[in-house]
Amino acid sequence: MEENRLSNGRKVRVRFAPSPTGPLHIGGVRTALYNYLFARRNGGDFVFRIEDTDTNRFVPGAEEYIIEAFRWLGIRFDEGVSFGGNFGPYRQSERRDIYKKYVQILLDNGKAYIAFDTPEQLEAKRAQIPNFQYDATTRTGMTNSLTLSKEEVERRIAAGEQYVVRFKIEPDQNVEVHDLIRGLVVINSSILDDKVLYKSADQLPTYHLANIVDDHLMEISHVIRGEEWLPSAPLHVLLYKAFGWEDTMPEFAHLPLLLKPEGSGKLSKRDGDKLGFPVFPLEWHDPATGEISSGYREKDYLPQAVLNFLALLGWNPGNDQEIMSMEQMIDLFSLEHCSKAGARFNYQKLIWFNHEYILGTPDSEIAKMYMPVLVQHGIDIPLEQAQTIVGMFKSRLNFVSELWDMSKFLFEAPQEYDEKSAKKWWKEGAAGYVSELCDFIESKQTSTLSELEPAIMDWIAGKGYATGKVMNALRVALVGAAVGPNIFQITDFIGKKETLDRARRAIPVMRNVQN
Ligand code: GLU
Repeated sequence: MEENRLSNGRKVRVRFAPSPTGPLHIGGVRTALYNYLFARRNGGDFVFRIEDTDTNRFVPGAEEYIIEAFRWLGIRFDEGVSFGGNFGPYRQSERRDIYKKYVQILLDNGKAYIAFDTPEQLEAKRAQIPNFQYDATTRTGMTNSLTLSKEEVERRIAAGEQYVVRFKIEPDQNVEVHDLIRGLVVINSSILDDKVLYKSADQLPTYHLANIVDDHLMEISHVIRGEEWLPSAPLHVLLYKAFGWEDTMPEFAHLPLLLKPEGSGKLSKRDGDKLGFPVFPLEWHDPATGEISSGYREKDYLPQAVLNFLALLGWNPGNDQEIMSMEQMIDLFSLEHCSKAGARFNYQKLIWFNHEYILGTPDSEIAKMYMPVLVQHGIDIPLEQAQTIVGMFKSRLNFVSELWDMSKFLFEAPQEYDEKSAKKWWKEGAAGYVSELCDFIESKQTSTLSELEPAIMDWIAGKGYATGKVMNALRVALVGAAVGPNIFQITDFIGKKETLDRARRAIPVMRNVQN
């Protein structure tokens, strides 16, 4: 781990700060992952903050969902909601008094003002002035503490009138955002409106104020977040300045958009629905509509595969390496290797990652995942046997959930035979040679057929038969189709008696195919 102090003496501290407005989108998982990698790489802290000041958008269960998602993914926070720490509380709804204090500071310094305009008055202005924006050019014509007398403002507040506090943005200033991924972004402050920072109605700050105050108080050194927050960054820079916190302003890094797998534009839930992949880490049950959205966990993806895939959507390790353990990703991660160009969400590649991670996982581990599925189908075998099955099929698996369909013939003799396979392999005397082979096998004393393999091969050669024809005819009888692993692995698993039973049961069917 590198020296964990920055050149200005500050410690690296980053945060993931979701709003609990629904399930965590996969783009949010990528943002959290990059923060996590950055924190670990630099020996820093990773903070989990809940930004729940927008009470209208609050969705019950969302916070729990987010915590559970990171638990599944194996991303750990050092402090925050449900993790504790010295900078709490970490849920913004529990920090009302703190924000009030900072709103007052801005009011006292003349950096913010109180506005009483009702929704109806604002609506009337919008109708009257094209592209109306509450700013330096319009604020003088509105109902606020800049246009009303001090007494009038106090009277209105005492009378219980609702108000908001707006940020007083000075026009025509160049606002510079230094972004570690995008470089210098400059905008003119005249395009910004006097953003609402606080609402008396619910006594809560808006996102912008709470976000800046908390990043400051929680000593956040780097703000790494999605591109959709880039338009807010100039306002945030101005807020830091208004508080006089320029020296401890965090560095910004806005991550590239996640794009649709095909076509152009931003990845949406609809793309996932259409093409059949989840856009959420876990399945989500919408408490309001009852709608269920699929999740990577329930769709049987391995969390490491999901993380490895996401890591490469917007970052590269500087070489062609694709499969990386968490330790390797931490070791290689840097914001300099993040791109500003959008990253296409190629979910086929994610399936490939899942396959690769299955290959890289010990058979015994996959077997442990498979055991409950076997139990569900009423099959009670020891772990070692499940492990043998995994060994037979692993190279073909994209998902562990495919194992049952691939391997169930080991437990259930085929009830019917695949037509194409039968047409191909059960012709020209198959019934004859399979029946002779059964007699030969029965005449031998060995219990496993694999021990007999050389003898069987000699027997086939002696008879002048074609090995492929004999073995495939037998395979279709055992499996029900011309698929599956090595035939002797199959016969050894089901046993000599079951092998002979299945083969002999298929012989009359072979005769039918021949006719
Ligand atoms: N609460 C914001 C969100 O939902 C946080 C944005 C930020 O990281 O500043 O993503």
